[in-house]
Amino acid sequence: MKASGYDGKIIIDVWEIVQYYYCPRKIYFLRALGIPVLKKRKMIEGQEEHLKEIKRIKERKTIFNYSQEDVKAIYHKLSLEDHDLGLAGQIDLVIELKNNKILPVEIKYSEYMEAFRGRKKQLIAYAILLEKKFNQIVDEGILYFPDRNKQITLPISYEDKKDLIKDLEKIRKLILREKLPVKSNIERCNYCEVAKYCM
Ligand code: SF4
Repeated sequence: MKASGYDGKIIIDVWEIVQYYYCPRKIYFLRALGIPVLKKRKMIEGQEEHLKEIKRIKERKTIFNYSQEDVKAIYHKLSLEDHDLGLAGQIDLVIELKNNKILPVEIKYSEYMEAFRGRKKQLIAYAILLEKKFNQIVDEGILYFPDRNKQITLPISYEDKKDLIKDLEKIRKLILREKLPVKSNIERCNYCEVAKYCM
């Protein structure tokens, strides 16, 4: 089984929360059985494009609707881990404003430009990690789709964060139970990286 925190708590990566909301059965294969996921061509291309996109973002007059003058710092691929929560993740972009507002940004190279539940959960998890790091309430996050230069700003509430912490416990139970969860809908299975083990 993959990494645990110093007190034995299983560390959940934010990416795994997204997988859980795609299909809980996927977490069983990835974490309980430790099946490696091969990166899809689209994911690899996304990583290359990502670096170019960061440069473009920094050169714009406004950064996610904030003027350059309001921005204190931009952090790229910020890796954070919280042992108490058993949560880790790497955030595509973090915007720190001069008024101390902190915003996580998740960049998506996808034709589906929507705030799916898994994507919102991803931003909530980042918000929790950032709050711990910056000692500052994080109440918004941004999904950004470079292909259409589209951004979706999502509010993140206290309740959202409480629910996310409950999600972590659910995922840990699923990993420890080592019992195959029920199947997801068949449409998702067509795009799933672990389908060949699952079917
Ligand atoms: S193939 Fe389908 S049921 Fe199996 S893990 Fe993937 S999405 Fe879930």
